[in-house]
Amino acid sequence: MKKAYIISTGTELLLGTTMDSNSVYLSEKLRDIGIKVIGKSTVGDSRIHIKNAFELGLKSADIVISSGGLGPTLDDLTKETACETMGVKLEIVEDELRKLEEFFKRRKRAMPKINKKQAMFPQGAIILKNHLGTAPGMCLKTGEKLVALLPGPPREMKRMYLEELEPVLKNEFELEKNKAIMKTIKVLGPGESQVEEMLGDLMEDNRQYSIALLAQEGEVHIKLTVEGQDFNDSQAIMKQITDEIEKRLQHNVIGYDDETLALKIAELMLKQGKTLALAESCTGGLLAKMITDLPGSSQYFWGSATSYSNSAKTAILNVKTETLEEYGAVSEEVAREMAAGILNNSAADFALAVTGIAGPEGGSEEKPVGTVFICLLNGHGQDYQVKKMSFVGDRDAIRALSAKTALDLLRRYLISGGVHK
Ligand code: AMP
Ligand code: MG
Repeated sequence: MKKAYIISTGTELLLGTTMDSNSVYLSEKLRDIGIKVIGKSTVGDSRIHIKNAFELGLKSADIVISSGGLGPTLDDLTKETACETMGVKLEIVEDELRKLEEFFKRRKRAMPKINKKQAMFPQGAIILKNHLGTAPGMCLKTGEKLVALLPGPPREMKRMYLEELEPVLKNEFELEKNKAIMKTIKVLGPGESQVEEMLGDLMEDNRQYSIALLAQEGEVHIKLTVEGQDFNDSQAIMKQITDEIEKRLQHNVIGYDDETLALKIAELMLKQGKTLALAESCTGGLLAKMITDLPGSSQYFWGSATSYSNSAKTAILNVKTETLEEYGAVSEEVAREMAAGILNNSAADFALAVTGIAGPEGGSEEKPVGTVFICLLNGHGQDYQVKKMSFVGDRDAIRALSAKTALDLLRRYLISGGVHK
């Protein structure tokens, strides 16, 4: 697998005034075509730091891609410095000079002298067109390595990458053969280090595939990249490794790539012909939103009661005042009565109820912020399960985790045919 190193230049990126979105974009795009980003540097507009970054990139990767510093001003140093590092000289390219002159002529302005350097390139460079600005990019092979320089403004950088650079990379490294394939396996339940433990030896360095773990809003994403001899070989290896991961993680796998929990619930509910009703307190309707984000959800979703206050719990869901007084609104008993209440009001097969303390206030020693009770009730047979969770995080995180855990409770129940897993 080819390796890339990304360099973002610009003092503004170090001051915290501009977010380095360019390297994020490039990382994703390179990953999509099967190039592995092995590192990146963010450096200010300083010759010595830019040079260090290029030296490191050239030493450790096959491809070095920079963004920023291609403008005409004194602090735009990337091209000069990159060429100096590669030991190549810059020369005027007449064609490019003419284009620049025309650019200024069209705007009825004289071309400042300093702009001339934007028309200078080393011999053998591929000049990358900039349709949205004056600074062209460039791409140069030096030995076995390839160096590409892109402009800083994200709009210009993205278009140049897609239209000019990506085709060069695909051609140069024969990526069209698409030997490398990628897959994300989404896991809910065990934390990142637990997943790592469960994967064990699979995480070890391997020439045919690589595994990276990413904690994402309560989920752990296993990012798999496989590069076999050819596409079919890659697919075979991917199947083998995916099967092995599934065997180890079992029901903790919630889906692949773009699949979400809500999508899984939709599939399972439709397949089993079941319907769902919700009683939400601390999630305030978030669960209902996640479900109804999917078109067609009315086929399995009855609706939701956002019963936030105690009186709403009593009035809408028939939660007993005594239960609220004796156990408190955040309790197993109230979660059960909320679920029972919404089932009585609907003809749904299942009810999910969520009550908890999302914070930042409202916690106590006995029930700290993050304490959440989730009840799943199967109307047929009155089979129920209550889960007490102790989430850590801010208000948004606790609400999101509560909603996901509720959906996951139902998912596990549905896939195991009515057994609580
Ligand atoms: P430059 O090519 O250095 O003249 O960059 C010009 C503009 O692009 C500035 O407004 C920068 O804030 C923006 N820019 C440069 N590098 C990045 C980056 N890595 N991510 C996002 N914006 C950037
Ligand atoms: Mg700059």
